[in-house]
Amino acid sequence: MAMRIAICPGSFDPITNGHLDVIQRAARLFDRVVVAVAVNQPKGPLFSTAERLELVRQVVVALPNVEADSFSGLLVDYVAQRGAHAVVRGLRAVSDFEFEFQLALMNRKLNEQVETIFMMPRESYTFLSSRLVKEIASLGGDVAEFVPPPVLEALKRRLTSNPI
Ligand code: ADP
Repeated sequence: MAMRIAICPGSFDPITNGHLDVIQRAARLFDRVVVAVAVNQPKGPLFSTAERLELVRQVVVALPNVEADSFSGLLVDYVAQRGAHAVVRGLRAVSDFEFEFQLALMNRKLNEQVETIFMMPRESYTFLSSRLVKEIASLGGDVAEFVPPPVLEALKRRLTSNPI
């Protein structure tokens, strides 16, 4: 049987323990998981694509069936190009649902073959977002319990040299 491949797409600016929780869950369901860092960034990221990709790479290095990659253009095209079967997105709360629902149905409209699967993180991560982590870190708060160690170091380096 063909390998079942899932894509976990996102900005990952930067990757948090919430993302990692969902990636680990996906890695138990699929043969291979590709964490795909979106290059096209309307949000004006704190970290460049290369930096976000490198942090994802360092964080997933211990997971044997997970790899990091970046993509630009349409997600559905990337999914097809990688021969993947599903897109995995994390759902934190009802507030995520409306946008994620639209996105999933639009992606299905663009390519009927692309299924979206939603996974819930551990409850303690449901309030966690990259945006909040950046905000807290930039105000001098401790984010050590929210992000993996390489991300903590990168945040410290970035925010001391170039505060947001
Ligand atoms: P995007 O800009 O595409 O929303 P993000 O990097 O913010 O990219 O998120 C990527 C995916 O990870 C999304 O499916 C998002 O819902 C999910 N996610 C983000 N934070 C968490 C978290 N704390 N717990 C579970 N899923 C999360």
